[in-house]
Amino acid sequence: MDTILVVNAGSSSLKFEVFAAAKQLTRLVKGKMEGIGTAPHLTIKGAGGDRLADESYPCETVPDLPAAMRLVGQWLRERHDGRLIAIGHRVVHGGPDHMHPVRIDEALVRELERYTPLAPLHQPNNLAPIRAILEHQPQLAQVACFDTAFHRGHDPMADHYAIPAHYFAEGVRRYGFHGLSYEYVAGRLAAIAPEVGMGRVIVAHLGSGASLCALHQGKSIESTLGFTALDGLPMGTRCGQIDPGVLLYLLQQRGMTPGELQDLLYKESGLKGLSGISNDVRDLLASDAPGAVLALDHFIHRIGFNTGALAAVLGGLDAFVFTAGVGENSPVMRERIAKKLVWLGAKLDAGRNAAGELLISSEDSRIAVYCVPTDEELMIARHTFALVTA
Ligand code: ADP
Repeated sequence: MDTILVVNAGSSSLKFEVFAAAKQLTRLVKGKMEGIGTAPHLTIKGAGGDRLADESYPCETVPDLPAAMRLVGQWLRERHDGRLIAIGHRVVHGGPDHMHPVRIDEALVRELERYTPLAPLHQPNNLAPIRAILEHQPQLAQVACFDTAFHRGHDPMADHYAIPAHYFAEGVRRYGFHGLSYEYVAGRLAAIAPEVGMGRVIVAHLGSGASLCALHQGKSIESTLGFTALDGLPMGTRCGQIDPGVLLYLLQQRGMTPGELQDLLYKESGLKGLSGISNDVRDLLASDAPGAVLALDHFIHRIGFNTGALAAVLGGLDAFVFTAGVGENSPVMRERIAKKLVWLGAKLDAGRNAAGELLISSEDSRIAVYCVPTDEELMIARHTFALVTA
């Protein structure tokens, strides 16, 4: 059996999935190495959720991502049947030009390294396992799938910031992220309701990272994420859209260092910063502390606010889609967000929403509202299979 390995490498974790590579891709294995460099722990599950591995390792055994990649590779070779034909990687930044996934070679890695300053917290981690595999198994096909690629059809006007134009050429511009999720959801919508999929749609990817994407005829025309994954909606620990004057104040008046500011914006803000309690929506829903109430109210307010902006860009709205951790799993959050969309014609069916059905709007809703589970890994596996069998 031919297989495809999908790799999603983060700062201290390596998520991976194995798919049987045939016309229809089937998920076989799903695993995660967490605590890389601190308290490494590997969990692997089979297709039916059965536990295949649950092991801790000494810190010295898995000090970094390449070591984690080698260990996962070894486990798969020893314990898993199948002939690995390719590895597909999630790469956060494909720069301004990559509209599609690409086969990886040394030259591409050098190009992608240039985007590290644009995504310093993600890009080096995404590239580390790629480099390790190029070094140890150069014959193995690798494919890079970019979170930015789906947004590259934007009108360039929309991707500008209103600062002197030469900064755009330098790369200071809007890119948009969560593209693999939006591409998957757009594909699902085209299958579920082709007419709706060809219309004006806003997809809300609400996980620990959160953003909205405006789709027209299945293509991204706007996104709330811009130059980095800090823009737009407040997220678990990230601030979302903020007046740049606040940053100047923190740097100039409060004497913050750039590193401290980065930590504040990426790790201490969003739901966590506002609530002072947690970055997890489940914890906030369970709490009646004023901070928890404020954080969720603000999150929902900003979703409504940004939906209005994207609906204006689309010139109206035919459908709204919830996806990712919060969007897929929380009927209460869907209901509270949908209340902000009443003016656009959204009305939920309480029973369908509670059951998490695909179509959750009522018969008399003027726009269709869907709950569509996303699957970025399957999207990567599909791209990888298509490229290596082309
Ligand atoms: P990531 O961006 O890390 O892939 P996910 O899309 O898995 O994140 O979303 C994770 C978030 O989803 C959690 O932090 C939590 O806030 C939220 N979440 C998951 N399940 C629920 C639930 N049942 N109710 C509310 N929120 C949930």
